[in-house]
Amino acid sequence: MSVETRTHTALHVVKGAIVKVLGDDAKWSAGASADGSHGRITVQFNRKPTDDEVSEIERLANLKIKEDQPIEIHVMSRADAEARWGDLLYDLFPLPEHITELQIFHLPGWNVNACNKDHTPSTGAIGGLAITKARYRNKRQLLEVSFDLAE
Ligand SMILES: [Zn+2]
Repeated sequence: MSVETRTHTALHVVKGAIVKVLGDDAKWSAGASADGSHGRITVQFNRKPTDDEVSEIERLANLKIKEDQPIEIHVMSRADAEARWGDLLYDLFPLPEHITELQIFHLPGWNVNACNKDHTPSTGAIGGLAITKARYRNKRQLLEVSFDLAE
């Protein structure tokens, strides 16, 4: 399992933890990147989170990793996926109209997202992570959460 695959999968787990702690106001992702064991997820949000909230995001993400929950990958028509999950599938920037079949990452109860990248079969393979920075960009109303995988 490559480190990029683990880091990318961790983005979904951290995103789920962000929404658990900060609520649906934080459900729109504006960007995500994985570089080696370093990841960064950016979500739209309306305020700077407290230090306690950031700690809770890290704690919940690691609990989800420890739980080793299986990850479901579905390949299905866009219409069926939208009927099941609605706009939860999408990030801030919509997929082009011409895409009619989607690969869906689904961690039940935690995160669902149209995503055609490779993922670990379950959350445990991520190993663990530490949030290294949570930066709030006031003007753009964007929250960037950076993390490193535990080695
Ligand atoms: Zn993905």
